[in-house]
Amino acid sequence: MSIKKIYPKATIGIFGGGQLGRMLAQAAKKIGYNIITLDPIPNSPCAQIADEQIVAAFDDYGAAERLAEQSDVLTYEFENVNADIIEHLEKKGNTVFPSSTVLRITQNRIKEKEFLKKIGISVTDFRAIVRRSHLEEAKEELGLPAMLKTATGGYDGKGQILLNTEEDILDVPQDLFLKELIWERYVPFIKEISVICARGASNELITFPVSENVHRDNILYTSTVPARIPAEVEKKATDIARRISERLEVIGVIGVEMFLCEDGIILVNEIAPRVHNSGHYTIEACYTSQFEQHIRAICGLPLGRTELLSPVAMINILGEGKGQGGDFLVGVEKVLSIPGISLHLYGKERARAGRKMGHLTVLADSVLEAVSRAKKAIEMLSWE
Ligand code: AMP
Repeated sequence: MSIKKIYPKATIGIFGGGQLGRMLAQAAKKIGYNIITLDPIPNSPCAQIADEQIVAAFDDYGAAERLAEQSDVLTYEFENVNADIIEHLEKKGNTVFPSSTVLRITQNRIKEKEFLKKIGISVTDFRAIVRRSHLEEAKEELGLPAMLKTATGGYDGKGQILLNTEEDILDVPQDLFLKELIWERYVPFIKEISVICARGASNELITFPVSENVHRDNILYTSTVPARIPAEVEKKATDIARRISERLEVIGVIGVEMFLCEDGIILVNEIAPRVHNSGHYTIEACYTSQFEQHIRAICGLPLGRTELLSPVAMINILGEGKGQGGDFLVGVEKVLSIPGISLHLYGKERARAGRKMGHLTVLADSVLEAVSRAKKAIEMLSWE
């Protein structure tokens, strides 16, 4: 596919004004692009960096058209953007990367897993659930434990229930059935890993080193690189991400989340059609960050190198939601005295519990040292 080259001083439109949009904007501004973001919340994290924000709902066709009129290329920073709007803009002749086809597959867990199976990539056993009686059928067919998830709209573990027993099945709240659900066989994984992959013009394809991820309460807690996995697993994971990117014909960055099981078996959990939290380490630890790779890819420019420059650990800074107050981060000075540390804060007003407020990246001589410093650093921070 030949894609139009878009040079600095042109304008990139970003649907979504969160932290991923912010870091995309930072990378784009570095090269001299203009940025417009669309987000319903004024002064969004991305808007603080962008040249302009259109404050509007994500399902506002008029606002999306205004964004498109002012932009030379469009992208998005979250997968729950309205796919009908993206397709509408494409039909009007606007360029959106990744395309609405990629978006439609990746924003529905059932379609995504069917696609993966079709291209020969292993996923956990699953079935679609539309009514309560399907739960019993799924239990008979696939057994317990299982993860019950909404097929669309969930992120960071939202809309997910772990089912261990018959009782858990009976307790599934009725309002969950307002949406299509997916029953996934629970995967007794050894590790969670992910691969960030970028595909640009003329099929240029790059992958970053595999990241080893630890989640807490379904939210990413730490990412460490290099992942402590055998070389053949690193290669297999990388090949999987490449195959997905090629078969989806993505232009831009994707993040592929995987479960590493016994005997080196890899099951893909999820594809994010965007830059990914587990790729934040690339800002400090690689030649070219995932954010810059995405900007280069959607602008039709050559991609950069991805080698790891140093062992690295990334840890998320989450809000604690202390109610009144609790939005001011204390301990910054102490944290910045740790060697090799970088602090990123996203400029969010309120530190609600579990909200991603920022992250820390630590470069060190070994992954163990990096992760130990990162954990020590996070303990020094509190919200007051
Ligand atoms: P997801 O929203 O699908 O990325 O899930 C969030 C987290 O929940 C994952 O990173 C895993 O830690 C856990 N999880 C999700 N699906 C499964 C599964 N089928 N088996 C085991 N753990 C899962």
